[in-house]
Amino acid sequence: MEPFAPGRTVVGFVGIGKMGVPMSRNLRRGDFAVVAYDVRAEALEAVRGDGVQPARDLADLAARAGVVITMLPDSGVVEKVVLGPGGLADHLAPGKLIIDMSSSYPARTKVLAETLARKGIHLIGSPVSGGVSGAEAATLAVMPGGPKELVDAAMPLFKALGKAIVHVGEAVESGHAMKCVNNYLSATNMISSMEAMMLAVRLGLDPRKVLDVVNNGSGCNTGTRDKWPRFLLRRSFTTGFSMGLMHKDLSMASDLAKDTGAVLFLLNHVRQMYALGLSQYGFDADQAYLLEIIESWAGQRFEPPKEK
Ligand code: NAD
Repeated sequence: MEPFAPGRTVVGFVGIGKMGVPMSRNLRRGDFAVVAYDVRAEALEAVRGDGVQPARDLADLAARAGVVITMLPDSGVVEKVVLGPGGLADHLAPGKLIIDMSSSYPARTKVLAETLARKGIHLIGSPVSGGVSGAEAATLAVMPGGPKELVDAAMPLFKALGKAIVHVGEAVESGHAMKCVNNYLSATNMISSMEAMMLAVRLGLDPRKVLDVVNNGSGCNTGTRDKWPRFLLRRSFTTGFSMGLMHKDLSMASDLAKDTGAVLFLLNHVRQMYALGLSQYGFDADQAYLLEIIESWAGQRFEPPKEK
């Protein structure tokens, strides 16, 4: 397959949500033509000013696109968009490629790719990490899984979206497996950094100094390095990642552990924390609201330090 090229390739982008907005904009900035579809018409309006053209429906998008990216909530929605009535599979020409950049369930990605292969349509999984800020800055970690020829063809698209691009494996589901491992760590970092900060406050330590030490020492993680300085230190619950989507990722990781016989105690504790957050705050609440639960258990509230 010929590499997709700026100035020439039209990218069809399905799912203009928190991640899809900055990712579709960056493809435009990289000189790809972009045609987008989302069930929310207002999402398409949000990016129209950046030159992202709205598609009427999936059939329209499939007819105009040389390659399609999906950035949707989960495997169920991806399958509906691809195989459902009026979906991409009914309208994409044989030989076309779908790149699923959502955090999807690996086994379902494999089956979806096999189903599409019977129609001559290719699919690879290529999830991302780095959050909304990484998407905005085009510094995402991109983890494609699939045959090298297809991953190489998609490389110019990945370079417009991210910085570290690691071809995880030849299997189309390997990127999605990688993403489950990554988000297990990300969620664990979030919880452990919240608990550690509760202890630090109990000990009368200054939160800013705690972060200064930890982030230059061995206690550093993405919670202390990123979530606390940027959001939690000032009680801003706006990390851009929902309780429901992280709970989905942890549930996938837990299922994979069960399937493979891996024993991961911590994973299931962390998943239950997110399950509690989900039941108390709802699917769309930002994951940072977990701090309120940890505070209620610790019997104290985290007070933002005064601005210097
Ligand atoms: P989101 O909920 O903000 O966006 C999903 C979009 O899909 C929404 O705009 C929604 O309207 C659209 N959609 C839903 N059903 C649809 C359908 N049938 N047809 C067309 N559009 C449909 O989610 P997000 O935070 O952008 O995450 C998207 C994916 O990326 C998820 O799989 C998530 O786990 C993953 N992810 C998110 C982050 C993050 O920080 N937010 C980071 C890395 C990966």
